[in-house]
Order: sequence, then C-alpha cells, then structure tokens
Amino acid sequence: MAKKNPFEVAQEQLDKAAKLLKLEPAVHEMLRWPMREVHVTIPVKMDNGSIKVFKGFMVQYNDALGPTKGGIRFHPEETIDTVRALAAWMTWKTALMDLPYGGGKGGVICNPKEMSDGELERLSRGYIRAIAQIIGPEKDIPAPDVYTNPQIMAWMMDEYSKIRQYNSPGVITGKPLRIGGSAGRIDATARGGMYVLREAAKKIGIDLKNATCAIQGYGNAGHFAHKLITEMFGTKVVAVSDSKGGIYSENGLSYEDVYKHKQETRSVVGFGGTKEITNEELLELDVDILIPAALEEVITGDNADKIKAKIIVELANGPVTPEADEILHNKNILFLPDFLANAGGVTVSYFEWVQNITGLYWDEEEVYSRLDKKMTKSFLAVWDAMNEFNCDPRTAAYIVAVRRVVEGMKLRGWV
Ligand code: NAD
Repeated sequence: MAKKNPFEVAQEQLDKAAKLLKLEPAVHEMLRWPMREVHVTIPVKMDNGSIKVFKGFMVQYNDALGPTKGGIRFHPEETIDTVRALAAWMTWKTALMDLPYGGGKGGVICNPKEMSDGELERLSRGYIRAIAQIIGPEKDIPAPDVYTNPQIMAWMMDEYSKIRQYNSPGVITGKPLRIGGSAGRIDATARGGMYVLREAAKKIGIDLKNATCAIQGYGNAGHFAHKLITEMFGTKVVAVSDSKGGIYSENGLSYEDVYKHKQETRSVVGFGGTKEITNEELLELDVDILIPAALEEVITGDNADKIKAKIIVELANGPVTPEADEILHNKNILFLPDFLANAGGVTVSYFEWVQNITGLYWDEEEVYSRLDKKMTKSFLAVWDAMNEFNCDPRTAAYIVAVRRVVEGMKLRGWV
C-alpha cells in the first residue's frame, strides 16, 4: 500500500481535534496550512571542484505562541510535504509543552553519507545564508534532526553570527557544550519520557519498582531509556532490540553490560545468557511497560490486539497508527503519545535558548528539575483533557495543544 502523504496525515489529525473543539471554519483553515514557507537553491563547491546545486525548504507553520522552532533535516528523500507535516507537529508539540514557541522545520535534499566534512560544512553554511532573513533568536530557532548533529549546528550558528556581525548562540540549539549547548541535552528525550511514565504509572497504579519493560531500538532514545528506567525506578528491563533483532531474559538485562556489548559488536544481539527474539515478538511480550524507540508504524491494526503492556511510552515518532490507537484505547492500554513522551529534547533545547539569551548557564540538576516540572505539567494537562473529552490520549494531547494555539491567535486578533 502506498504510504500516505505525511502532510495529509497531519491535516487529518488536526481535523479530528478541530471537530471535538468545534473550531470555527476560519480558525480551522488557518491551522491546516503553514503560515510561511521558503524554498531555497544552494550552490555548493564540491571537493572535486564541480558545483552541485541543492534544494532546501524552511516551513514556519504557526508563530502565534512565539518564534518558530524545529529541526533541520538533511535527507535524500526530503519533500516539502514532509517538512510541512513535521512543522505542524512541532507546532502542537511546543504548545503542548507550554514553550513560548511556534512550530517550524527545515530540510535539505542531500545524502550526507556521501559527502565529505568540507562539503557538509559548505552546504550547512550555504543553507543558513539562504534562510538568514527568516531565522534568528526572536524569529526561528532551528535544531538538529535526521542526519544533522551538534557540529553542523556549530557551523550554522557561526555562519549566522558572521552575517549579523555579532555572536548569536541563541539562533540555534543542539550546539556543542563549549559554544553554548546545554547540560543535560544528551539524554533529554529519554529522561523526559521517564518523568511522563512516572506520572502515568501513579495514575493507573503501577509500581514501577516491581514492573517489567521491553524497549525497541537501542540508539540515543532507546539505550538511555534502558539506563534511566533502571536507575530512576529499578524497573526490570527484560527485552531490548535494534535493527538486527532482539534479546530477552526474564531475569532482566543489565544496562552496563548490554550497552558495552552493543558498543563492541554494534548490536545487542548475541549478548550472553539471553534468548533471541524478533522485533515483532518484543512488542507482544507480557510486560508492564513497552517503549518503542526506533521506527514509525510498528504497532498497527494487525498487531495492536496482541499488545499486553499496560503503558506504552512512544519515544519514537509515530510508532502507533491511528487504527491501532483505537484498539489500544479500547483495551485500556495507556499510550503516551510521541509529542508528549519524546518532548524532553525540544524542552531542553528551549532551556538552551534561555541560557544563551540570559548568558547564565545551569548545571544538570537544574536542567533535570525544570524538565521534570514541564513534563509532569504537560502529562497532567493531557490526563485532564482525556477525562474532559472522554477520548484517547493522543486526541487529548491534540486538544490541549490546538486549544492553546487558538487562544494565542485569538488574543493577537488574527481570527
Ligand atoms: P538512533 O538512530 O540513535 O537509533 C535508532 C535505533 O533503532 C537503533 O538502535 C537502530 O538499530 C534501531 N532500529 C532501526 N531499524 C530497526 C528495526 N527495523 N527494528 C528495530 N530497531 C530498529 O535514533 P534515535 O535518536 O534514538 O531516535 C529513535 C526514534 O526516536 C526516532 O523515531 C526519532 O524520531 C525519535 N526521537 C528521538 C529524539 C532524540 O532526541 N534522539 C527526539 C525525539 C524523537
């Protein structure tokens, strides 16, 4: 089956919330489309002396609540519709987290795996020159995303600062620590997910110390989830996986040992004393907590009724399809939607921007405690909306976010 256009999916999700909120047609229409989008063409001198012309996009979806914020993707299959959809999702995510931001997203069609560091640097600087007019600490604050990283953010921040002729660390987040990055950014996504999990477990009466957990994916989000769920709550992680497959042990998996094995062999598979399982089997294990932290669309209409976990923490983006949402909700499984569960990253990005602007830098404890407050408050807002509208958690999260953006647009007199 052909994949749906992601922007149409984003619009459909909004339509559902708009119906429940009984949004007026003009308000709804305003939210269905990006406020602004820019298409750019970037000439880059390649190492062999030739010039290659790249195409890029920047979508600023809605800035009623503040300057737009979202990552920059370097991807060979980037399209304007993907960037639009991701910018819409950033709008709902920042609103749900109550950050003073709107949503945006950038993208360049390129394959970084086939480019040298020098070519990547020239492309990064060229993209910033192309969009310099519409970004800035008070306009739009990009961040890393697929195939972009702290080094690329450093080049981009430097290029912007040169154009403005003053140092401007607040133009971009996800920078290396030495030039204005924030403490606590590295594990922020997983940590934010843990705070939300703690609150959800309290609400439905799960004792995390005696609970079991399975984690799909062992990259940044997944391996830190293993580390933190063990450290913070003493939860027993019985299964983890990566692209090569999964491992299971009913006695629990030690984070230090599995992580060491993954670093040495590039996979969790083959770790001693465990049973090999597939990624599909991992999802259907009889555990209390399930953490999809790898791919989109892994829990679908085909397997949702086989899921046994009581809570799903969506660290990955889009791991559960709309069809599965309904099945899970009917089965009374509490799924913590991606734009709540994985919002720790953008929240610490916000903290980075605040620190850049004030020039006062925080230690890890300060970052963690502020992140905890933000995540807890957002979870409680979603919980209240679930009860108010008698709906599933994803719809509830949409309702909270859309309501806030609408309030912003009304107060500004746009609609
Ligand atoms: P990553 O590239 O560091 O890790 C991805 C992991 O998924 C790897 O362990 C890989 O082996 C595994 N994987 C790939 N294909 C798989 C398959 N078919 N089955 C099982 N596992 C497979 O990526 P990440 O940064 O950890 O991101 C993971 C997810 O979390 C993505 O959906 C991403 O959008 C989302 N997310 C990440 C962050 C963040 O800060 N890292 C923030 C928000 C959302």
